[in-house]
Amino acid sequence: MNKVKNQPVDLTKAVVQPLTSDLLQQKNVSLDVLRLDLIHPVISGNKWFKLKYHIREAQLQNKKGILTFGGAWSNHLVATALACHQAGLASIGIIRGEQPARLSDTLQEVQQYNMQLQFVSRAAYSNEAAIGVNRATVFLQEKYPEYFIVPQGGQSHLGVLGAAEILQLTQIESYSHISCAAGTGTMLAGLVHAALPYQQVIGICSLKLPSGENNSLCTFVKPYAANLKDYTLFYDYHFGGYARKTDELIRFMNTIYLQHDLPTDFVYTGKLFFGILQLVQMGYFQRNSRILVVHSGGLQGNRSLPAGTLTFL
Ligand SMILES: *Cc1c(COP(=O)(O)O)cnc(C)c1O
Repeated sequence: MNKVKNQPVDLTKAVVQPLTSDLLQQKNVSLDVLRLDLIHPVISGNKWFKLKYHIREAQLQNKKGILTFGGAWSNHLVATALACHQAGLASIGIIRGEQPARLSDTLQEVQQYNMQLQFVSRAAYSNEAAIGVNRATVFLQEKYPEYFIVPQGGQSHLGVLGAAEILQLTQIESYSHISCAAGTGTMLAGLVHAALPYQQVIGICSLKLPSGENNSLCTFVKPYAANLKDYTLFYDYHFGGYARKTDELIRFMNTIYLQHDLPTDFVYTGKLFFGILQLVQMGYFQRNSRILVVHSGGLQGNRSLPAGTLTFL
């Protein structure tokens, strides 16, 4: 644990892993995976990028720490707790739901990074976590003037600017398509912001949302696109909704781990790879497409599954 506590994020570990399979060969498309899950065991994947400028801003404003929001298994919360700890900042986590008798592994872990936890009822949480300056965030800011407030999932302009830097780790110009999982859409907005004019960015939505352009994801991402054709969202791969799963998804995750040595999480990246490979299968990508899939990390969330569900962990 102490080793992880002091281990810095190492962006050189984010290798690009080419996948090979009969399907990809048959459809004549290439698929590279940007392994952001490897940059750090805790501050994993896209969370580091989304936090980067929030942490810098908290330091510039001479804040004592960061206050943010999450659920019991939140990747964002555990990444924030440790990133703050390493940056010499305090942290407060506002947790959705009443305090349980036994804390989740993730919440026990954030406490080891000195994050202070405050449990709020689900109804109060959705108010407090609401994006933008509303009465609840004003209330929290007044209550904790020494803390810089980071919205749930790092969803802010600063989060987008950090996520835009993800593509600097790749030979970006060589891809025709760039794809990622979408929760709040912050990472997607960053990729859209950084993508070149001839590239299409594809988001696989991890939650159940109405399709169309007026849902919460599109509303957030749209301002970062020069034109609406720059990105496409797919809504059919949520497997029942946010943090829901089916046996089919779990089987798929076990299979791609065996075939490609590619571990995924059931909340985001499992659904992402399922969606992208199904789109390949359906002939969505023209021949000679070069697809980059951003593996955004999040493997710690698999701890919420019963032991033995996945053949890897
Ligand atoms: C948080 C998270 C996402 C969602 O990112 P958004 O910027 O909120 O869309 C995707 N993948 C993983 C692994 C995550 O932990």
